[in-house]
Amino acid sequence: MSAPNSSFDPKQVSALGEDAVNEMVAAALVDIAGAADLAALKEVRLAHAGDRSPLALANREIGALPPAAKVEVGKRVGEARARIKEALTSREEVLQRQRDEEVLVAEAVDVTVPTTRRSLGGRHPLTTLMEAMADVFIAMGYSVAEGPELEAEWVNFDALNVPADHPARTMQDTFYVTSQDSGAVLRTQTSPIQIRAMLSRELPIHVVAPGRVYRTDELDATHTPVFHQIEGLAVDEGLTMADLKGTLDHLAEQMFGAGIVTRLRPSYFPFTEPSAEVDLECFVCRGESVGNPERPCRTCGSEGWIEWGGCGMVNPRVLRSVGIDADVYSGFAFGMGIERTLMFRNGVTDMHDMVEGDVRFTRAFGVEA
Ligand SMILES: [Zn+2]
Repeated sequence: MSAPNSSFDPKQVSALGEDAVNEMVAAALVDIAGAADLAALKEVRLAHAGDRSPLALANREIGALPPAAKVEVGKRVGEARARIKEALTSREEVLQRQRDEEVLVAEAVDVTVPTTRRSLGGRHPLTTLMEAMADVFIAMGYSVAEGPELEAEWVNFDALNVPADHPARTMQDTFYVTSQDSGAVLRTQTSPIQIRAMLSRELPIHVVAPGRVYRTDELDATHTPVFHQIEGLAVDEGLTMADLKGTLDHLAEQMFGAGIVTRLRPSYFPFTEPSAEVDLECFVCRGESVGNPERPCRTCGSEGWIEWGGCGMVNPRVLRSVGIDADVYSGFAFGMGIERTLMFRNGVTDMHDMVEGDVRFTRAFGVEA
């Protein structure tokens, strides 16, 4: 390259002459217009506006020109680069719009096309309710215990202090697998899970046992031969009825709303001593329907309380039958029917609805968690 020279005529430097620059621009405009898609345009941009493009190279020559020529050539090259840049931008907008439209067409979904998809139905409300109740105890640190539905008679009855001549053991109440002396029954309650938990776990024990149980009832509006219970058991040093009551009240609040409490009425169960029936404060009228004929309550029959389940302190004989020192440890246990809970909680009036598998019943509960 020659040194700057005051007599230099920029028109004589072919790469910077007006014609040469115009040719560069024309070539670029042709290529830009011919770019069929964004990928092609990217290559065109590199060729005509990149660091190695003819105009970029020409731009570098300007520095070697005499000051008088710099202005003229600089303006020419600058305008040429601006024109190319502008053409690139507008072509890019066109191609982007074109691509977007193609994508919309290619990925269009005709929502009116009939499908073969079937309804997924819903989880059975007995399952979701049982899990919701179990979750209350899991949050308190209990663990879920399970046991077999086909149970040894000793675990289902003997270990729970139900004597051999107890009427519950008769075939009118209990499904024996082959004969009454087979020693194997379909469990009549979830309580045998308590026995298994006490036999297999380290003390202290906090378990909740949801499960399916069997009794020889005919199916009618309020009975079914297969139903569900949830049962809780705590065994530790120093547990009292107060711990049991607090636990039940907590369950009542979690399931039925703040301030709902339980009431215990003396009762008898072979495996607890003392034993009590658990009543739930009516979560609809909260007792205001009692003696108030103008505001009757269908949920509690204007009683103010709803019978919910049974409970008590674990009978020391039961603790001893599984090898726990009843002089050191005490326990409480409680249980309630899931079907019964669902009936008064959700206004289900007929047990048939729960067992017949009609999806219209289940669907009404939606996706209740
Ligand atoms: Zn009520």
